[in-house]
Amino acid sequence: MERYGGAAVRLRIEASLRALPSLIHPSPGHDPITLMFHARPALGASAGTFGFDSTLRSRIHFLSWVQAKAMTIERARPHAVSKTWGIADLRPWSDARQDDGPIGEIWYERPGDATPNSSLLLKLLFTSQPLSIQVHPDDASAHAMGLPNGKTEAWYVLSTTPDAKVALGLKQRLTSQQFRAAVGDGTIRDLVVWHSVSADDVISVPAGTIHSIGAGIIIAEIQQRSDATFRLFDFGRHRALHIESAIAVANTGPADSLVQPDDLVHERTLLVTNSLFRFEKLTLPANSAWSLGAEQETWFLVLKGSAHIESFDIRQGEAIFAQSDHIDLYTGPIGLVGLMACTNSGEIPHLTRRIGQRGPAHARRSPLVQAASVSLAPPILSNGHLDIAP
Ligand SMILES: [Zn+2]
Repeated sequence: MERYGGAAVRLRIEASLRALPSLIHPSPGHDPITLMFHARPALGASAGTFGFDSTLRSRIHFLSWVQAKAMTIERARPHAVSKTWGIADLRPWSDARQDDGPIGEIWYERPGDATPNSSLLLKLLFTSQPLSIQVHPDDASAHAMGLPNGKTEAWYVLSTTPDAKVALGLKQRLTSQQFRAAVGDGTIRDLVVWHSVSADDVISVPAGTIHSIGAGIIIAEIQQRSDATFRLFDFGRHRALHIESAIAVANTGPADSLVQPDDLVHERTLLVTNSLFRFEKLTLPANSAWSLGAEQETWFLVLKGSAHIESFDIRQGEAIFAQSDHIDLYTGPIGLVGLMACTNSGEIPHLTRRIGQRGPAHARRSPLVQAASVSLAPPILSNGHLDIAP
């Protein structure tokens, strides 16, 4: 396991096995012998080659890296964004405070300046005033406008004041002329449909949906990373409106975006799935060990409880980013409720309960590291395969 900034990136394990000369003595002149081994997929390792150089009888070398692909698990870096419609006290979700006004958003970013941007953006939103009534383009419209991609988003409501509402779609279908007139004179405010919301509500906001988030709401949002927002009404804040762009991309009729979550199994609830991302809620019991598939770009946000994830301890309001493998996750003494979002490959990420309860700290190292240390003992050879088994 190599440490890289705030990230744990498994890249390679190389070792010289000095303990083995008495075990294997190939005769001089033979080609180097290469033995294939297969690590268990659960260990996060892919197949590699292992062998020894016949000219150096006293040493065995790993000839290639154990891990061919880079597994990335990073503690996400929260980034507070000032907004006039935000709030000052973000607790218990964040300790962030800013002198230059209220905070409206926490963005979870990959650590390190050189890391590529993720395609999904995980945010928390805190509102003391309604956000603008707005709409985002889909990918095709965005491309036609010279923008890199569109913006579909989904919300999970964390908490609300009693009268909190979100706006989704219009009360009736409008022609382009009616829509342009309603945006122009501000009556669009009365044409959107406001829905009461409370904690645990789930809202899908496909690109093209006219929407707003009202005052008094804290929401976790997953979205395509994009700043393509076309404003239709700004509640007196006098920022620019984007009427023609909005007309080009908006569904100027009713929307059906309140979602009934779908319990997959006891531990996981499907919140939203579309062609772009998959959004789930995980509810895991106390002191239990899990392996969560993270082949795709994956974000995980803790809502309640705590967990040890790879080399991190994370708690409420903290998030991790992972891709290219799996996340080993050990829940804390009150269990864990979290949101998982990943780019949608069409396959359902696995969630496997692993045997045993959470062990002592020294037993909670990466399984790959444990496997490598085990492999330093004389290997068991059978049918040309070297089995790594703890
Ligand atoms: Zn939006």
